[in-house]
Amino acid sequence: MTSYVAAIDQGTTSTRMMIFDHSGRVVAVDQKEHEQIFPQAGWVEHNAEEIWENTRAVTAGALAKADLQAGDIVAVGITNQRETTLVWDRKTGKPVYNAIVWQDTRTDRIVDELGNLGGGQERYRPKTGLPLATYFSGPKVKWILDNVDGARARAEAGDLLFGNMDTWLVWNMTGGPDGGVHITDPTNASRTLLMDLDTLSWDADIAGDMGVPLSMLPEIRSSSEEYGKVRPRGALSGVPIAGILGDQQAATFGQACLSPGEAKNTYGTGNFVLLNTGTEKVMSENGLLTTVCYKIGSNDTVYALEGSIAVTGSLVQWLRDNLGIIRNAAEIESLARSVDDNGGAYFVPAFSGLFAPYWRSDARGVIAGLTRYVNKGHLARAVLEATAFQTREVIEAMNADSGVPLKSLKVDGGMVVNELLMQFQADILDVPVIRPVVPETTALGAAYAAGLATGFWKSEDDIRNNWAQDKEWTPSMEAKQRDEQYRNWKKAVTKTFDWVE
Ligand code: ADP
Repeated sequence: MTSYVAAIDQGTTSTRMMIFDHSGRVVAVDQKEHEQIFPQAGWVEHNAEEIWENTRAVTAGALAKADLQAGDIVAVGITNQRETTLVWDRKTGKPVYNAIVWQDTRTDRIVDELGNLGGGQERYRPKTGLPLATYFSGPKVKWILDNVDGARARAEAGDLLFGNMDTWLVWNMTGGPDGGVHITDPTNASRTLLMDLDTLSWDADIAGDMGVPLSMLPEIRSSSEEYGKVRPRGALSGVPIAGILGDQQAATFGQACLSPGEAKNTYGTGNFVLLNTGTEKVMSENGLLTTVCYKIGSNDTVYALEGSIAVTGSLVQWLRDNLGIIRNAAEIESLARSVDDNGGAYFVPAFSGLFAPYWRSDARGVIAGLTRYVNKGHLARAVLEATAFQTREVIEAMNADSGVPLKSLKVDGGMVVNELLMQFQADILDVPVIRPVVPETTALGAAYAAGLATGFWKSEDDIRNNWAQDKEWTPSMEAKQRDEQYRNWKKAVTKTFDWVE
């Protein structure tokens, strides 16, 4: 009997269930979008119960498409949008508030106040590898406990649980109020601002600063081991849950970036470049994050340097939904090809402030260089180019931190079907850009973590051997043109600063 591994990919815009065979190829996929809730400027929320319902629906959906049963699946792995924060009642399973999404900036004042305790934005970097920023979970938990009626008292009484989406799904999949396991993995925990990067345990001092009771935090397990089995009801009943990786770390794993010096860039809602630094924890001096890349069972922890960019693919969505210039994301490429260049326009999408390498919550978006000449084709180009320029900024920071210039870049995510963007990326970086045969590396990485824990795959070499190249773009832009455009981009970035007082 052939057997398979499944992965649930709980992303920012949708939830996917994918089934993989032993060669790492996709056998079936089912996907469902969920609502993006914008209660006011800067706020982004998800309904966690909708996400759990969608998870059940796509799980059943993918199995049905492949004509498989739970008995055909040897393990399931979870990967998820990181940082997105949920607090729920351990007895009823009801969230006390919507999930606060990673892009949400409502914690800007909390973050400033924490910095004012001493150390400013760098206060927690030595322990956590992260700057103080609205991006991370800890301050979002504090906001919920401070702002939801009665929440702090219930949390202190031990009645509330915190989790990112991995924790929420695993708790529900293993029984919810009825014996659900309350766990996470170090890749997710390393994004909370609450975990010590050396010990992989919660830091009581930081949790104290943020007023987060330790009793509500999940147990931190490794990224690849059997955590429990899916509860008796449901499509995957009895299947071991055996892998958890935050989405960007899962993509790094799925891209087989398993040796120090290997890097990938995922082009989704935002962009995330991760460089495997091995068992060495490299502290960034250039605005990057130090984060856990993965921890496989009892093996040593592997770390990564990360360049997180908040807005890339979501700028394409913005062009579609807020301006109506395109009807769907794919149309941006033909519109951009209707002109030869950006017509002098540069679009810096600082919608959630700027993440790496700037970490400025005071920044807001600009379109610079506008003249009467600029048309919607130029704007479409400027939107795509923004992704490539932002990527160059974080790769430059990475080269500076690691001392070794990147030689090529593996790419994945929803935007890498865009050939114009991929060529422009190679041109602006001046290194080859390489796309693998299986672009769903996020789900694949979670499947690998689960399959390694259960012996479906024997070692990391199986992962390396499964990786195959689809296409490579080589740089073809003159240095002079590249330098001039990048200089213009940098100038445009300075126009976003100091907007929010
Ligand atoms: P996530 O996992 O973050 O939800 P995906 O990896 O599914 O995101 O990528 C979706 C993103 O890719 C969307 O923001 C969408 O605007 C963008 N996208 C999809 N197709 C294209 C395209 N042909 N050109 C440019 N961007 C695209």
